[in-house]
Amino acid sequence: MKIFNTKQEIKSYLTTQKEEHKTIGFVPTMGALHQGHLSLVKKAKKKNDIVVVSIFVNPTQFDKKEDLTNYPKTIENDTQLLESISCDVLFFPSVEEIYDHHILSEKFDFDGLEHQMEGKFRPGHFDGVGTIVKTLFKIVAPNKAYFGQKDFQQLQIIKKMVRKNRLNVKIKGCPIFRENDGLAMSSRNTRLSEEQRAAAPFIYKVLKKVRKKFGPENIIELNEWVENQFKKHPFFKLEYFTIADEKSLETIKNRESNKKYRAFIAVFAGKIRLIDNIRL
Ligand code: AMP
Repeated sequence: MKIFNTKQEIKSYLTTQKEEHKTIGFVPTMGALHQGHLSLVKKAKKKNDIVVVSIFVNPTQFDKKEDLTNYPKTIENDTQLLESISCDVLFFPSVEEIYDHHILSEKFDFDGLEHQMEGKFRPGHFDGVGTIVKTLFKIVAPNKAYFGQKDFQQLQIIKKMVRKNRLNVKIKGCPIFRENDGLAMSSRNTRLSEEQRAAAPFIYKVLKKVRKKFGPENIIELNEWVENQFKKHPFFKLEYFTIADEKSLETIKNRESNKKYRAFIAVFAGKIRLIDNIRL
């Protein structure tokens, strides 16, 4: 696997590859890689000649400094994992390489998608995401880019950014990869205490029950039911639960037959914030 730390080096390498008509698949990550990330890389490997993974803990998308400082960093292990599945290129730039000395976000208009869910609780988060993804797309200029449905709102926002800016890249959404007990894989899971980790499959269990209970007229009751599940819980505090339209991401009060819906949840285990979602 080739490892590049500068824009210039990776651009120059990929330019040569493109001249040889090789297609580029791209998987942006913040590292602390797990099987969820690797599932994206494996998918990209199947459909592209060259797969590029970036590892960059993007400061502008963190609304809490503490979360940025504590974000797990495991570059040696990450490199080994990527080697083990024959990833072609790792791009691992420094903050200065990406932002120079201006660690600032561009302001985006994602037609309202950015004001729902995560947008309500993490101010500026999606401006940070838009800024870094746009920058990385410029550097890598991939044919296809792969994003997990674990961050479903982010996936829809990236699709919107690509459409609005007419960027020449196909965005591929990939299913949520889970631990055997149902917990959605996340780099943040390693920060859970033993007790929190043991209890964490509860989140997906609640979502699965919601999927079972979801009917045409019981959305308000469902919201209350979920809130009550967490009120009683010794480890988890509910930040939000919502059932939303997959396209607009707007919370719904009534179910319509021709639309697709998802349930979204954000939960705190102490200071660790976990998110998950399920197709209904
Ligand atoms: P992150 O490193 O958390 O920014 O994630 C990088 C990419 O991996 C994003 O597109 C995430 O949605 C995706 N991802 C993270 N966890 C999972 C998972 N458990 N299943 C599928 N994709 C994931």
